[in-house]
Amino acid sequence: MPHLYAIAIGSNRPHGRHGRPPQVVEAAIARLDGEFGLFDASPIVLNAAHGGAGRDFANTVALVESDLEPVEMLARLKAIEADFGRRRGRRWGPRVLDLDIALWSGGKFRSRQLTIPHPQLARRSFVLQPLAAIAPDWSLGPLAVRHLTGRLARKRPQG
Ligand code: AMP
Repeated sequence: MPHLYAIAIGSNRPHGRHGRPPQVVEAAIARLDGEFGLFDASPIVLNAAHGGAGRDFANTVALVESDLEPVEMLARLKAIEADFGRRRGRRWGPRVLDLDIALWSGGKFRSRQLTIPHPQLARRSFVLQPLAAIAPDWSLGPLAVRHLTGRLARKRPQG
C-alpha cells in the first residue's frame, strides 16, 4: 500500500516564470501531481506575513500518494524547493516555495532531520485550515484535524 502524505505548501515571493505567490503554489501543486499521485488540494488562501517577512503568503495543503518513506519524501520536497529557487537562512524570510510534511498515513515519525506530524502543525492556522477543508477527519491520536482547527480558531492568532 502506498503512503498518503499531507504536504503544506507556501510561497511569498514571485517566481520569474510562474508569477505571483498564488501562481507559484499552483505550479507546485502541478509539480507534486507530476511526481506523485495527487489526491486533492485545498483552495489557495492568502495570509498576512508573520514575523516581518514582508509580503503576504499564499498557502495550501495537497494530499499525495507515494511509496517513498518519509526521509526520501523530504529529500524530494527539498529538491523541488531548490528547483523553485528558495532562499535558505531566515526562518520567516522571503521564500519562493516552502514544502513541509504536515502528516503521513504512518502516524508518528521521528528522525534527526524530520518530525511528523509537523511540530508546528497544531499552531499554524495557515496549514490547519486548508487541511480541514480536505481531510477534516484525519486523526492525530484522540483528536482529528477538525478538532485542532476548532481549538486554534478560538485562540489568538499566532505563527
Ligand atoms: P523550514 O526551512 O522552516 O521549512 O524547515 C525545514 C527543515 O525542517 C527541514 O530541513 C527538515 O530537516 C526540518 N523538518 C522537521 N520536520 C519537518 C517536517 N515535518 N516537514 C518538513 N521539514 C521538517
